[in-house]
Parts: sequence; C-alpha cells; structure tokens
Amino acid sequence: MKAIVFDLGGTRIKLGLVSVSEIIIESILPSFSSDGLIPRLKVIEAAVADMLAKTKTHVSELIGVGVSIPGIVDTKKMRVLSINKKFADVTEFDFNAWTQKTWGLPVYLENDARAALIGEWKYGAGRGCDNIVLVTLGTGIGGAAMIEGKLLRGKHYQAGCLGGHFTININGTKCTCGNVGCMESEASTWRLPELYKQHPDFKKSKASTSKILDFETLFTLAEHGDETSTDIMLHCLEAWSAGIVTMIHAYDPEKVIIGGGVMKSEKIILPYIRKKVSQHAWTPWGNVEIEGAKFTDHAGMLGIAYLLNKQLTE
Ligand SMILES: [Zn+2]
Repeated sequence: MKAIVFDLGGTRIKLGLVSVSEIIIESILPSFSSDGLIPRLKVIEAAVADMLAKTKTHVSELIGVGVSIPGIVDTKKMRVLSINKKFADVTEFDFNAWTQKTWGLPVYLENDARAALIGEWKYGAGRGCDNIVLVTLGTGIGGAAMIEGKLLRGKHYQAGCLGGHFTININGTKCTCGNVGCMESEASTWRLPELYKQHPDFKKSKASTSKILDFETLFTLAEHGDETSTDIMLHCLEAWSAGIVTMIHAYDPEKVIIGGGVMKSEKIILPYIRKKVSQHAWTPWGNVEIEGAKFTDHAGMLGIAYLLNKQLTE
C-alpha cells in the first residue's frame, strides 16, 4: 500500500510518499496559508510529480491521497466545514474532485490532531493503549481524543478536537474562536508576545531585546534565570495543566500524549504537568500517564495514511 499524504500546516505544507508505516520520501513547502490553499495547488502538484519521479513510483501503485488539515472535517463528505484563519478557501474546495482530476485517486481528509493521534496510536507513544488524548502545543493548541479504540468525532465532527478552546479563565483574553479565556488564548505561541508585553517587568527582561518572542526564547531565558520569562513560563505551565485536567475529566483517557514544537522543553513541561494532574484530576481508578509524543513531524502523515488505507479496505 502506497499513498501520497499532505500535512497542511499554517506555516509548512509537508508532503510525503508513504508505504504503510514508512515515509519513503518527503518534501516541505512554505504554506503562505493566509492566501489560501488554491494558489498553492500547482506547486503541490509539481512537488508530488518530483517525489514520484525520484522514487520511480507510478500513480497506478498508489491507493489514494491523505490530507491532514487544522480544521473541522466532515469525514463522510470529505469537506472542511470550518477552519480558523489558515487556508480560508478550503471550506469551498472539493478535495476529492481535485485528487481525482489530478491523479485519478480518491482523497481521505481528517483533522490534523486526529491524524496525529492515529499516528502515535499505531506507531508511537500511544501503542498498546486505546484510550488516549493527544494535545499539541504550538502556534495554536490542537487536540483529539480516542475512546475504546475509536476516534471521537461527534455529530458535527468537532468532538474531541476543540480541547485548545476549553475555557480555563473566565476573566481571560478573547480568543480567535469567539470564546474568552481558552487554553489557547491563555498560553499559545500567538499569545506569547502579548503575555510578555503586558508583564510589568518586561523592559527589565532580556526578552525585550529579542526579535522573536516564542517558546524557545521563553524556556531558554527562564533557564538562565530571567524572572519575567520564568513568571510567564509558570503561567503557561499552569494553563496547559488546567486544560489537560479538563480533557482528562471530559474523555477519561489512560494516557495523554503531548506534542508540538514546545516539547523541545519536555524535561520541564512533563514533570510539571504530571504533578498537577496527580494533584487535580479526579481519576479514582489510578494515574493517567502523561507522555511526550514520539514523532515531532511525522505522526500526522503516518496517521492519515493509516486512515486512508483503512477507509479504502473496509
Ligand atoms: Zn478559543
């Protein structure tokens, strides 16, 4: 079984040729997602042609095209129902018509966090466990839940994947989703510059001279004793812990897998969240395992390839 897979991220489009659980070749393109997906199609098609040529793969060897995307996805009609800012034109876009016309192949579309959860479940940190919550901490906060071996989707396909928009602060900041005080609007990469600038001691902090105010900057400065950065780091760790406790109460997992670029600092993040979860989560049956994702980049591509194959062979 070989398939083409796309992981459409806000800043990067990852493309791959996958054979079962092996990524044979991959390619990365800038997304320019604020311009939409349609202007990128020709570049994507050319990159696929290049991957097929380099691996001497003929289209007839492929079973389909898997697409993982950060939006709410109707997995029956293979349409994106809603997406927050990035690739805004995809709600009007017929993915299956495009893949049929271009390669003569069917498409399988799924929310990116759900695809990543499947990748971790089959091949990574979730192996052997059928009750999992996955949360990705990054520009935004994504989530997905699996209960008794089944992905939670819900009537409107939004169950489990809006964990980043659980309310953790009723007096909090307005979120891009319309809510106030979401886990994402309290502690994500897009909120971080504001958290710094609103801090009373920002001008005393080394961060005030930093061009990029991201989590890498934050954890590095906190490690070197920058007090403002340490304050904000603790705020974010508390916000993530509160969100994860709520996810545990909502979905009853045995394991929470945490992914995203922020996990470069997992030595700080994991022990903190484990302690908070053991103090605050109501789980009379025992302790929820809190683990870092195994894959930093490939869980979504492997997961969408698995879902595509399962869909076509069921
Ligand atoms: Zn929100």
